[in-house]
Amino acid sequence: MTDARTNLIDWLRDAHAMEKQAETMLKAQHERLEHYPELKNRIGQHIEETKSQAEALEGCLTRLGESTSGFKDAAGKMSAMAQGMGGMFASDEVVKGSMAGYTFEHMEIASYRALIAAAEAVGDVDTADVCRGILAEEVEMADWLGEHLPAVTRQFLARDEADVTAKR
Ligand code: MG
Ligand code: FE
Repeated sequence: MTDARTNLIDWLRDAHAMEKQAETMLKAQHERLEHYPELKNRIGQHIEETKSQAEALEGCLTRLGESTSGFKDAAGKMSAMAQGMGGMFASDEVVKGSMAGYTFEHMEIASYRALIAAAEAVGDVDTADVCRGILAEEVEMADWLGEHLPAVTRQFLARDEADVTAKR
């Protein structure tokens, strides 16, 4: 096996772990949001996209002749970082969570840009196509969060100013 192919497989596994972590973070945010219906809906949509992304990555690994059984170990790798980014359960969690989500999406974008290049380098057209499809979803989510962050922030500030207890 070539080094490039080994790297591609490693990075596909890393991406899979990243998506599992994304699913955990998004679900936690989705469950807790009460007063930001637009944000909640968009996160709900991205949870479904994220699940499909993880499955698509499993498909790539299977096509490359890799077993998908060792996934549990890899999933733990991302958790420390994700927890650090979370800002969950703080009173301003809706803002912190949006910021963390925006950051996370850009980490995903970077991963898929690298994966596309790696897949192309070994001539794995199918994996490159899958990763381009996923990349488009990540870009859309990142852009949405970036565009809505100011409004979410203003809404939070207004609720905070009015001393509304449920700020999320
Ligand atoms: Mg993703
Ligand atoms: Fe994403």
